[in-house]
Amino acid sequence: MSLHIAYDYQCPRCGVNFIPYKKGGTECPKCGVATDDYFNFIDRAIASIKYHLEYYGKIHPGAWLVSSFADAILEDIFEILEIFKASPNITDFNSFAETVLGQRIPEHEKYLRQHVFDMVIIIKEKLEKEGLY
Ligand SMILES: [Zn+2]
Repeated sequence: MSLHIAYDYQCPRCGVNFIPYKKGGTECPKCGVATDDYFNFIDRAIASIKYHLEYYGKIHPGAWLVSSFADAILEDIFEILEIFKASPNITDFNSFAETVLGQRIPEHEKYLRQHVFDMVIIIKEKLEKEGLY
């Protein structure tokens, strides 16, 4: 079992997918238009990670069927957190995360790299506060 997030959101102006994860409004990472729509992705992502830690002892559950945009983003986040945790010789989290996102997110969607990076930083800090990372 794994804990998924069935959520898709499209920018009302340019139509790209992104996650409006900020309570005060999130700007589209491509066109910059701000939306008041909000989805509590951060807490849901943390709930998913907690679930996998509890049942599998790891962040990435292994088999992961992507059926929504949020699931795809979540897998990027799992990969970054899991690989970094397992690699004590890598010390600079930020540059590691940027490298992984550069590899996982294709050039035509490169505007998502910073978007996902910002979310993974928040999620990592929250996990650290709870002693889970
Ligand atoms: Zn847009």
